Amino acid sequence: MVKPSADYQSFGRTQPPARQVAAFDEAHKALADGLASPGSLLAYGNGRSYGDSCHNSAGTIIDMRPRKRVIAFDVETGRLEAEAGLMLSEVIRLAAPHGYFPAVVPGTQFVTLGGAVANDVHGKNHHRRGSFGCHVESLTLQRSDGRTYACSPTENAGLYSATLGGMGLTGIILTVALRLMRVPSLDVAETVQPFRNLAEYFDLAEATDRDNEYAVAWIDQLASGRNAGRGLLLAGNHAPHGARAADLRPARLSVPFQPPVTVLNRPFLKLFNRAYNWRRRRAGDSIAGYRGFFFPLDGVGNWNRLYGPNGLYQHQSVVPEAAARQAVPELLAAARRAGQGSFLTVLKRFGAQRSPALMSFPRPGYTLTLDFPNHGARTLALLDELDRITVGAGGGVNPYKDARMSAATFAASFPEWQRLEAMRDPAFMSDFWARTAGRLGGRSGATAQAAE
Ligand SMILES: Cc1cc2nc3c(=O)[nH]c(=O)nc-3n(C[C@H](O)[C@H](O)[C@H](O)COP(=O)(O)OP(=O)(O)OC[C@H]3O[C@@H](n4cnc5c(N)ncnc54)[C@H](O)[C@@H]3O)c2cc1C
Repeated sequence: MVKPSADYQSFGRTQPPARQVAAFDEAHKALADGLASPGSLLAYGNGRSYGDSCHNSAGTIIDMRPRKRVIAFDVETGRLEAEAGLMLSEVIRLAAPHGYFPAVVPGTQFVTLGGAVANDVHGKNHHRRGSFGCHVESLTLQRSDGRTYACSPTENAGLYSATLGGMGLTGIILTVALRLMRVPSLDVAETVQPFRNLAEYFDLAEATDRDNEYAVAWIDQLASGRNAGRGLLLAGNHAPHGARAADLRPARLSVPFQPPVTVLNRPFLKLFNRAYNWRRRRAGDSIAGYRGFFFPLDGVGNWNRLYGPNGLYQHQSVVPEAAARQAVPELLAAARRAGQGSFLTVLKRFGAQRSPALMSFPRPGYTLTLDFPNHGARTLALLDELDRITVGAGGGVNPYKDARMSAATFAASFPEWQRLEAMRDPAFMSDFWARTAGRLGGRSGATAQAAE
């Protein structure tokens, strides 16, 4: 058993840290010997999921971070094979000097390959490259029947697709083989286009996606009246000339301890918005370093501590293209009406490329991400309201950002959830899955194995 610590938390910090943590070797042996009991295990990557999908409070989580060996890297083709605990930051460090970058990166580089696969994460280029799973050639998976499965689109294809986006429920991902993307440099030639309201954003979004590898919009959630919905659309392509080595400097700022209350109140948000978005990021073209462009929040270590001891909830919704012009303003208006400013409000268009994953969050349409300090019942009531608008618009709520959605919201967001439940390894369970699929009447663990 590994000594548990605050390290084993999820990013939103609304859950207590995990109490039972196993080293990989211990869990590996229990699985190989067929000794793991139902619902007793869950792999843990780097805890960058916001809610309870990386926790198993009735069982033991397995720390995968020490398993980070690079097995093979082909500089001719960009094929990388590594153990699942390797972080994307390390992939970039290895691959950049050879002209490669991960085809899909989320908004932090401190995620493991296993976590990126298990949540089938997306980046600012979903409209071009789809989700992470679109670039996973193969993986190996250890299950509680004592076997290790080689999985790819042609071998154990059912397990392959259930494991992409499978939130750790199909077993332990041991290794991942990934196709990296060739890039001329790590830097991004960035264009910043201000928009005065959401209608202007929607008019710009599709054409911007057509011309750019990356695009994402920041909304000024504090603006109201005729400024409501104003924001900046940041878009870009890898610059033809620029850095070809990872920037390894530590974050310039760090939050050294958790303040006793959230400091993210309205005056602070106003200052932040003004300083970061609305003054420094002027309209026009510039060359952005890759860390600032892709991972701006990594620039302040432990920034989630600013939310105080009660943590933060993130709400990420996706709604179909046809419903977005109505649903997105409604979502933003609901948060404004509730008097709860979102610290970071991000809007982006997802493209049509389908993931090979059985269950995956991205789908064609628009995705809105909102962060709220946890003010207890009134924040939970607002989040329920956001769920209602999302589901009413035919959309879905992101499970790996969630710590509280109802089972009904989950089922409406992912009607295919029973197919993942059928592929779940009986020894694996998460708090998220118990809270949602468990209440929907998911099969018992014993029948899960038999159904394969
Ligand atoms: C600042 C910030 C920005 C973000 N931006 C984005 C974004 O733009 N797009 C996006 O999609 N996500 C984003 N995320 C969320 C993050 O990318 C995902 O939650 C990611 O999956 C976390 O990976 P992790 O390694 O920390 O895994 P964890 O959070 O520890 O675990 C995630 C899931 O993976 C499973 N898992 C981990 N390792 C293994 C393994 N070896 N075998 C089997 N299962 C495993 C866990 O059981 C769990 O279900 C962001 C998060 C933060 C904090």
